[in-house]
Amino acid sequence: MSYPNSDGPVDTVADTVDDHAPVLVVKNLTTTFATPRGPLTAVDDVSFTLRRGTALGIVGESGSGKSVTARSVMRLLPKSNVTTTGEVSINGIDMMALGPKELRAMWGPEVAMVFQDPLGSLNPVMRIGDQVAEGLRIHHNVSRKEARAAALQLLRQVGIPSPQTRLDEYPHQLSGGMRQRVVIAIALSCGPKLLIADEPTTALDVTVQAQILDLLSDQQTERHMPLVLITHDLGVVAGRTQEVIVMYAGRIMERARTPVLFRDMKMPYTEALFRSIPKVEYPSHTRLAIIPGRPPTMVEPIRGCRFAPRCRYAQDRCLEEEPELTPAVDRDHVYRCFYPVGTPEGEQALEINRSNGRLTPEGELIGVS
Ligand code: ADP
Ligand code: MG
Repeated sequence: MSYPNSDGPVDTVADTVDDHAPVLVVKNLTTTFATPRGPLTAVDDVSFTLRRGTALGIVGESGSGKSVTARSVMRLLPKSNVTTTGEVSINGIDMMALGPKELRAMWGPEVAMVFQDPLGSLNPVMRIGDQVAEGLRIHHNVSRKEARAAALQLLRQVGIPSPQTRLDEYPHQLSGGMRQRVVIAIALSCGPKLLIADEPTTALDVTVQAQILDLLSDQQTERHMPLVLITHDLGVVAGRTQEVIVMYAGRIMERARTPVLFRDMKMPYTEALFRSIPKVEYPSHTRLAIIPGRPPTMVEPIRGCRFAPRCRYAQDRCLEEEPELTPAVDRDHVYRCFYPVGTPEGEQALEINRSNGRLTPEGELIGVS
């Protein structure tokens, strides 16, 4: 096995904090698609560890490699045009070594996933009850009657009103929020030891989003189930995760405990994501700060820091040289930046960019849209 772009494995939180074996260990994960334009490295040398009973957020703009990371971990990518290297282990099981039959045995009891689009995750011509019971019948070999009783119990747990009636209904008879509750019930049905939720609320109304996120958090706590919560919205992981990874263009840009990240973010990219969170105290006509510019395509080789062309802090060095992941204060907080937010170097970089006309006096980028 080879580890392209590897500078050696990143030290993990679990190494330093507790003796419990971690639930999920990802080391030097790299996934490349063969595309007509050439190889596209969607996930580039990603390493992280998920500790028992905790929730980890993975945050980044659309296209940053979050879903491909999740699918690589699950081994849910098509075989034909994909190469994945590196290590993935779930509760000590080496996912990269498993064949199709062994993987199917993992999906459900060991690791389950909730996707963005509830309708696409459900079978339109199968009754809700049968879909929720299916995993139990496959993995636990229970009778029809027992499976139906368990399905009823699960629908109750995920907060579906009149669950008895819903058992015999079809997905189109439910609202989007209720469908996502059903998808969560299916994911929980085999009592997974790890749950990965990939933008579980992106397709839902704002009012329903918080309810579904609360449901996931409640289930995570009740079941003492580790959770990977993937989102493009930094606001979603606040208060719902213990640790956050910020991804950009296939790379981990910053990793920290959630309160530390919000209090002391070091990466200008994290700051840019933070600035794009709608703030309730702003009047409703306030224009949302979106990050100017576009992410790189990941087909052409990238020189320097991947975020540099869109970064308010970037200096010449950033276009030439890619910073390594370095610890802020301790090994639990790492980031890739020569001019980190809130440091004298960072402040000086902003000052230089103001005086050379790259930034407006207010500190916004000029000439990038
Ligand atoms: P995110 O989930 O962060 O929005 P993804 O992980 O879905 O981003 O995608 C990362 C990159 O990989 C994107 O540039 C996307 O176009 C590319 N990609 C994803 N799936 C495929 C595929 N099957 N074939 C080719 N490129 C893909
Ligand atoms: Mg995605």
